[in-house]
Amino acid sequence: MSTLKGAKWVLNDLKKNGYEAFIVGGAVRDYLLKEPLNDIDITTNAKPHQVSKIFKTKPTGLKYGTVTVFMNNETYEVTTYRIDGEYSDSRHPEYVTFSETVEEDVKRRDFTINGLLMTASNEIIDYVDGKEDLKNKIIRTIGNPIDRFNEDALRILRAFYFQSKLGFQIDKDTRDAISQMKYKLKDIAMERIFNEIIKIFKGKYVKRALHSLITTGVHHELPGLSKGIEFVNQMEDIPFIDAFFTLAFTLNQSVPKEWPFSNKHRHKYETASKLALAHDQFDAYTLYTYGLELCLLANKVNYMLGKSKNQKNKIENDFENLPIQSDLDLKLRATDMIKLTGKKAGAWVKQLQTEMVIEVINRRLENKKETLEAYALERMKGV
Ligand code: ATP
Ligand code: MG
Repeated sequence: MSTLKGAKWVLNDLKKNGYEAFIVGGAVRDYLLKEPLNDIDITTNAKPHQVSKIFKTKPTGLKYGTVTVFMNNETYEVTTYRIDGEYSDSRHPEYVTFSETVEEDVKRRDFTINGLLMTASNEIIDYVDGKEDLKNKIIRTIGNPIDRFNEDALRILRAFYFQSKLGFQIDKDTRDAISQMKYKLKDIAMERIFNEIIKIFKGKYVKRALHSLITTGVHHELPGLSKGIEFVNQMEDIPFIDAFFTLAFTLNQSVPKEWPFSNKHRHKYETASKLALAHDQFDAYTLYTYGLELCLLANKVNYMLGKSKNQKNKIENDFENLPIQSDLDLKLRATDMIKLTGKKAGAWVKQLQTEMVIEVINRRLENKKETLEAYALERMKGV
């Protein structure tokens, strides 16, 4: 969390110590748009070690000249003026060079609307014609768009993110450069791409961004997502990210290996996708086996695809009313079964347990210790 008031304290303290400092980037943009501020970034000619002498700090990105400043329980990212060096692989600047002037610092930034500066007395300094673009609601790179996307192709997705967040138009030259340079996204780490996509889906104007992703052809550069993006672009309400990914991977019939999902997430998308393809109803045993979240996701996907009704309430109710939600809820434990039957532990235990789960779930057997004991003894008679 950061506040404008706190940021101004930081600016003033830096100034008192003989340095220049400005609020920069998203905070200035959002302040002028009267939108709520996220984090506040500060740019200064003080070097990280000099900033650390003035404030309580944490070295967040020393390589890039960034320290986090703590002020009144709030945090501010303070970065030394820099010019970015040659980009080695479009992923990380090979080196950062501190620069002398704030003008150089803003010129390395991505879009004109993100290149505005603000002083402690609310004065706006504009070296990049950002104010004009902000007024006209235009997303335009600072400098030649081909060069800027060539340096860092992630900026392509950032353009769509700002479109989704702000509802602005992407300037024609910037858009043409996106179409031309989109192949460069192949060089960008998938984690970074994934994060931008999540941000795009959270925006108020996500529909516009999806439309631009399609018209520029950038959606084809996102493994396994192009059919999903085309599909949701036709929808009235854009789904949340999990439902979108599940839908996209269902249409794609697989979860491409390039995506850096955790095992848990990959499992979620794969299983919910399979469930969607296999079921349009979710019976008690399916609910028990796959759990509420996956069944809801699968139903949501089928609903979006027009294959079934929205059964959210029914699925939630049915799940709530399951006699047991895990085999740990069975009133007869594996150890009890072994003791009761006097048989050696073996595969039969798991088999019997599964059988009892199915009977209990389908309400043919009550989940009571005596009832389960009687069932177990009966089943194991003569085995
Ligand atoms: P948000 O509201 O999402 O935080 P933001 O504009 O603050 O928007 P950040 O990702 O927080 O965006 O980045 C802060 C600033 O750093 C940007 O406003 C921009 O000036 C600069 N920046 C960030 N990423 C890049 C990039 N890939 N290339 C050039 N400049 C960038
Ligand atoms: Mg920010």
